[in-house]
Amino acid sequence: MESIRELLRAGPGPSSSHTIGPYRAALLFRHGLAHEPVVKVRVTLCGSLALTGQGHGTDAIVKKALEGLSPEVVFDFETPVAHPNTIIFSAELEGGETITRAFESIGGGAIKPVGQPYQPRVVYPFRTFDGLKAWMEAHGETDVYRVIEHFEGESIFGFGSEMLQQSFDTLSMSLRQGGILPGRLQVQAVARQMYQTALKLPKSSGRRTMLISAFAYAVSEANARGEKIVTAPTCGAAGVVPAVLYYQYRECGRTFPELVKAFLVGALVCVFAKEEAGISGAVLGCQAEIGSAASFAAAALCYLDGLSVGQIEYGAEVAMEHFLGLTCDPVDGYVQIPCIERNGMAAIHAYTAYLYAKYIAPYKKAKVSFDDVLKAMKETGEKMSDELRETGLGGLARVVKC
Ligand code: SF4
Repeated sequence: MESIRELLRAGPGPSSSHTIGPYRAALLFRHGLAHEPVVKVRVTLCGSLALTGQGHGTDAIVKKALEGLSPEVVFDFETPVAHPNTIIFSAELEGGETITRAFESIGGGAIKPVGQPYQPRVVYPFRTFDGLKAWMEAHGETDVYRVIEHFEGESIFGFGSEMLQQSFDTLSMSLRQGGILPGRLQVQAVARQMYQTALKLPKSSGRRTMLISAFAYAVSEANARGEKIVTAPTCGAAGVVPAVLYYQYRECGRTFPELVKAFLVGALVCVFAKEEAGISGAVLGCQAEIGSAASFAAAALCYLDGLSVGQIEYGAEVAMEHFLGLTCDPVDGYVQIPCIERNGMAAIHAYTAYLYAKYIAPYKKAKVSFDDVLKAMKETGEKMSDELRETGLGGLARVVKC
């Protein structure tokens, strides 16, 4: 199974598949043109990249990556493509030769050339939660973080620290901002007000709910502004994990190194979701993004609290199970409605899943494994109509008129 380093990436929001992926593809294409006498560059956005690319800012981010080459960006709504996030670059050179490269943005900021297999760094000898448990049992290991360190090397801690620190920086900077988010929807940023309101509440579960929600909104609002985001596992769902961990940092006295280990354990669980089902809303609906983020967050909280590997699985499973069937229908193509609020809800949901794992799992044998729920998620996503998979053609995106 691939490395956690393939899951967590930092880059410009608001969408890992619609901005980080295309941005990386454009930089690669640009790199290949370094010594070429370029006359003209054309970028064609196909599938979901055409249908919701404007709302996600795909055209703007590609132009930024190709600054100086004055690319013409075309939205192609007609040509059928094998992957819904396909981007084609072509450069006309002096003398008439044309260089063409096509990439697929396959989710979480990962890209691959069309027609070629995705070749990530593979470091684990298992790719399911059952595989992890079997490995741990065979090796007398009880600590999931030590398994990560065994396969990824000690440097994984530094990588995790960098990613978590970036998430916290984005969150805390966004908590100081307000105003209207970019785009036609004119959505008001509310994280700052939510935070200030929560701080005035007496210590209670209501205060906790509002603080975690404010933290999730803060990251999601930063994402909507196109700021630097860490894919956890995507930009659209990037508020969930930092929200629950920042709460632990600020309110519960957890240290940053403790949080980094928990963050990486949650990330490992999310790599199972990526490998066995998928994490792209355009492919499997929002259950794949927000459901995976909730499993990530719940697993991290369980590990942080010292729960067993069985309880970590329970928390991750419960967090995903109750998002099964969730569609991806961003209004007007902007990762704002329902996405920002959904991050807040998912963070609270993940916290509840952690509590269930802590207080229910010891007395009830789980009937549904994490691997089972991933199979169900994949099957459900594949049966979803295209309208409900990040095309902006169905669900809230069709009904809500802003
Ligand atoms: S609805 Fe969910 S999957 Fe779709 S863009 Fe929003 S957060 Fe991402």
